[in-house]
Amino acid sequence: MGFLSEEKVSEIRDRSSILEVVSDYVTLKKTGKNYKGLCPFHAEKTPSFMVNEERQIFHCFGCGEGGDAFTFLMKVGHFSFPQAVEELAKRYGVNLPSRELSPAQKKDVAEREVLFQINQIASDYFHDLLTQRREGEEGRKYLTQREISSEIITEHRLGYSTDRWNGLVHHLLEKKVSFELAWKLGLIFPKSKAGDSTLREGRRLDASSWYDAFRG
Ligand SMILES: [Zn+2]
Repeated sequence: MGFLSEEKVSEIRDRSSILEVVSDYVTLKKTGKNYKGLCPFHAEKTPSFMVNEERQIFHCFGCGEGGDAFTFLMKVGHFSFPQAVEELAKRYGVNLPSRELSPAQKKDVAEREVLFQINQIASDYFHDLLTQRREGEEGRKYLTQREISSEIITEHRLGYSTDRWNGLVHHLLEKKVSFELAWKLGLIFPKSKAGDSTLREGRRLDASSWYDAFRG
């Protein structure tokens, strides 16, 4: 049996709840047979995004996106099909036959994991600035003016970046995050114009060689 046999995929599909999967990203309200919410794939103020629990599908009447739980994860989380299958297998306790990863694939998987963690650290940093810090006052005022509630701020983990050039860089240093990986994510940039080739090892580790991508 191959890594993703058709039987396995349909077993995972059967055990998954599209309602739960979509609810991680969209606030849904029950209306009749369907659940309705604001589409995550296009900007809208009136919900035209529907989830049908019985048929385990979603559809947006605004932009036409639609599909099943796998498609949803692929679109919303930029998963590949195998990744979406694996994600749902894990979530719903379906065992997948193990596949041998090459050393290069293992390295990729490990790096991806670290990249997720770094994004999480950055997200926490910006969210904390917005919600807990004096420096976040400007951002709070702006969101109040936009009538964005604290529930939305929490739910979507909105954040604020100050005008500082090295706020995040210093935070990453404290958290012992690799500057180069943070650069790969576009969170910070090297000060040297020529970039990686001229950034010698010592300078790569030096916080003063980097600056924040997001300011103000
Ligand atoms: Zn849509």
